[in-house]
Amino acid sequence: MSAALHPWLDAPLREALARQQAHALLVQGAQDRGPLDFSIALARAWLCETPASQRPGGLACGRCGGCHLVDERSHPDLRLLVPESLRAAAGLPADEAGESGSAKTRKPSREIKVDAVRAALEFIGLTPSRAGLKVLLIHPAEELNLVAANALLKTLEEPPGPMRFVLGCGAPQALLPTLRSRCQSVVLPRPDREAALAWLQAQGLQDAAIVLDACGGEPLRALEQAREGRDAEAWRRFPSQVLQGDGAGLAGWPLPVLVEALQRLCEDRLRQALGLPARAFPQLEPPKGPVATERMIAALTETAAWLRTRAAQADHPWSAPLAIEALLQRTRSALDARSRPL
Ligand SMILES: [Zn+2]
Repeated sequence: MSAALHPWLDAPLREALARQQAHALLVQGAQDRGPLDFSIALARAWLCETPASQRPGGLACGRCGGCHLVDERSHPDLRLLVPESLRAAAGLPADEAGESGSAKTRKPSREIKVDAVRAALEFIGLTPSRAGLKVLLIHPAEELNLVAANALLKTLEEPPGPMRFVLGCGAPQALLPTLRSRCQSVVLPRPDREAALAWLQAQGLQDAAIVLDACGGEPLRALEQAREGRDAEAWRRFPSQVLQGDGAGLAGWPLPVLVEALQRLCEDRLRQALGLPARAFPQLEPPKGPVATERMIAALTETAAWLRTRAAQADHPWSAPLAIEALLQRTRSALDARSRPL
């Protein structure tokens, strides 16, 4: 299990370690920013056994027995509480609890179950066996249901012994306010563009800037998209495919990816209508001929709102070709709203 943290998370990690005052931290950041990796890096720093005076910035040394055990996910004072669906991402073996015999045939659960929370709280109440404290990491904390969150609340309020909590969270608005208010917040910033590009190039990505821009500046998503075949060439083609209504060319795109890309395309057209350069798709040509700016802005705003409702449903098993057609048709007419009636 590699312990290297993404380079754009290095400065925020140092800052979080320097500023940390509470025993519970809430790490907020979209999945693409690596809140889980970041939370694990925090736990690793807390459990590192090299004297703090020999570790600049309080970062983990990466060489001691404590660091090694965290990297192996077998540290006796660390508990990672993640749903089944994130066990692999957290570096954990598949459902070791074996709570269901059908684990292989059904979709991995996205929930954090209350029984798992109770077991983790029992664990954290025990005396630390190796380090001077116990660490409980929960991610994503918004997946705790009311019962599970309430079970956790009391321990957060009055920890029974030396312990630290790190709660990772992609959607803080979905988190119970009582939970949020008991934690010190760490907000992961948008990755620095230069660092993101350097990292993507080091991963062997060609024309990384094109993919990074199309993916909203989020390097992990950019790499994932490129590996799934949506590389620089695919993103370069994308605006003209939409403008030409080329549904066949976009067949096979996962709907959530397509919806998000269409939203970015609308935003870019809106920027152009306001006299600003396109950001996600620099190759999107500005509309030719006279533009009914107000009409275009109205159509784009409306379509962006409609796409947001589609994004909320994009996990649904729609009939994909029909869905792609409908998405393209609507977006296309908004992008080209010069002469069309609303
Ligand atoms: Zn260490």
